[in-house]
Amino acid sequence: MTKMHVAMVEHFKKPLVLREWDVPIPGAGQILVKTEACGVCHTDIHAASGDWPVKPTLPFIPGHEGIGRVSAVGAGVTLVKEGDRVGVPWLHSACGHCEYCLTAWETICPAETFTGYNTNGAFAEYLLADPNYVAHIPASLSAEEAAPIICAGITSYKGIKQTEAKPGEWLAVSGIGGLGHLAIQYAKHMGLKVCAVDIDDGKLALAKKLGADAIVNAKVGDPAAAVKKATDGGAHGVLITAPSLSAFKQGVGMTRKHGICVLVGIPPGDFPVPLFDVVADCISIRGSFVGNREDLAEALSFAAEGKVKADIELQPLSAINKVFTRLEHGDVAARVVLQFQ
Ligand code: NAD
Ligand code: ZN
Ligand code: ZN
Repeated sequence: MTKMHVAMVEHFKKPLVLREWDVPIPGAGQILVKTEACGVCHTDIHAASGDWPVKPTLPFIPGHEGIGRVSAVGAGVTLVKEGDRVGVPWLHSACGHCEYCLTAWETICPAETFTGYNTNGAFAEYLLADPNYVAHIPASLSAEEAAPIICAGITSYKGIKQTEAKPGEWLAVSGIGGLGHLAIQYAKHMGLKVCAVDIDDGKLALAKKLGADAIVNAKVGDPAAAVKKATDGGAHGVLITAPSLSAFKQGVGMTRKHGICVLVGIPPGDFPVPLFDVVADCISIRGSFVGNREDLAEALSFAAEGKVKADIELQPLSAINKVFTRLEHGDVAARVVLQFQ
């Protein structure tokens, strides 16, 4: 059996273990991808902490922003061939024929599986993928540039669409990390005015650089009132990417009357909804979960055209535990991408 280096979660809330593991062999309908780069998403921390109601089975390899070349194909695979460059996104696989799959909502298919959660991910030199669900990486993007787009990019882009904000209207983005710094760029290219909200002045400075029209530090005073003031009555669309429960009630408070507040961050727990305000102001609150394959292709094409560019810091796989600690403490400028040889 050929061996590969991986970073594995063996126990929740414990450091990942760097070890050697067997390179998997693609079965019928599967492909083997040799990883070139993989972004580190805050979801990987939730996964490794066992934060969510449905937990991954231990041990497992996280990583769902993996980009690499197809190095072997299983029986019957015709969609991709050896040498093609693909991305293996969070949506690993779905059934293809349920009511959700048939209406391009494969991300909520009851039979879906998730890369780096209930199938092994790309914190590894090789991983298996379903050729029906991989991203096809435009030639103009390097693996490192493409990596953050296949989760942080698609999720922000789809989340903005879900706010239904129209050109000229305001979008508030709460949380300017991996997802949020891309959301600002997508939103500007979609003709929106952007109000960026974070608790860190460094992130807000980056937001300004990326084109945010207004910035609000959520640690200072009443952030909902500050956004309402900056946007003359509230944002038409609000996208909450912050992995912090306090951002959620604040985000609902930032929403304009008849606006749509889209929840994307997934810190464990619940948040209180100010019922009277939501009802009397006709506010919609909506969840959004990554995006479908067409959203993925669109999100990548913005990047391929140079309109959206992830701000990346490169690290080796062996640095993963340090990267996790920094990400948990808001100490990563935008996105860390693990680089493989
Ligand atoms: P990140 O750590 O890169 O960024 C989080 C940002 O939120 C940081 O800039 C931090 O300073 C900021 N923040 C923290 N508390 C805040 C607060 N109270 N108000 C405003 N900003 C605050 O994380 P990420 O990789 O961008 O992921 C963010 C969240 O989105 C995670 O919970 C992750 O699991 C989730 N996520 C969801 C989906 C989905 O499909 N819905 C996909 C990917 C990630
Ligand atoms: Zn992710
Ligand atoms: Zn389905």
